[in-house]
Amino acid sequence: MIFDFHTHSFFSDGIASPIELTRFAVSYGYKAIAITDHASYSNLDFLVDNIKKDCQLAEKYWDITAIPGVEISNVPAKDIDKMAGYAKERGAKLVIAHGQSVVERVEEGTNWEAVNSKHVDILAHPGIISEKEAEAAAKNGIFLEVTARKGHSLGNGRTVVLGRKAGARFLLNTDAHGPYDLFQGNFQEVVGKGAGLNPDEIKEILEINTRMVIEKAKKN
Ligand SMILES: [Zn+2]
Ligand SMILES: [Zn+2]
Repeated sequence: MIFDFHTHSFFSDGIASPIELTRFAVSYGYKAIAITDHASYSNLDFLVDNIKKDCQLAEKYWDITAIPGVEISNVPAKDIDKMAGYAKERGAKLVIAHGQSVVERVEEGTNWEAVNSKHVDILAHPGIISEKEAEAAAKNGIFLEVTARKGHSLGNGRTVVLGRKAGARFLLNTDAHGPYDLFQGNFQEVVGKGAGLNPDEIKEILEINTRMVIEKAKKN
């Protein structure tokens, strides 16, 4: 069973609509998908209102949990908590913060603001995460993402080492920008293994952490 909480549709820089992406996900054996397009105040209302429609359509006819979310990307670090709160108010069920990936010039302080936000659920590809940031993520119940995405995945090893030491919870997501980036077969577990997660940790992610996210999204 596959659970993936970080994907992009053509409402930001992906290539498929939310329902197309979800259809592929169903066919690959997904049990849950979140559509989390890149957001800021410029497009947040539009994203939430429209992604929600396809998520509802998918859940009506198919056996999948489809979660409308956003990924707050490359915004001023000090505004992350406020924007994440606004996204929740507007109906986003899941808020990802785009972390300080090793391959992008995300503002310094982004990881720190994200792991200290009441409204952020997942810190995506946190790159050169610090011990302090990993500890705050653990304390505040914010999931750290281990990613299948090329480039961003260069930081997976560090995320696992420091996240584990701090007792943080992990997720394994694709950050898919098209249907063929989605997990197929056992690739989700392979990405976890490649990042240095042990079998028990992978099991915990797939059987416990994923359910926690779904429960949280339902309450949001
Ligand atoms: Zn993107
Ligand atoms: Zn993304």
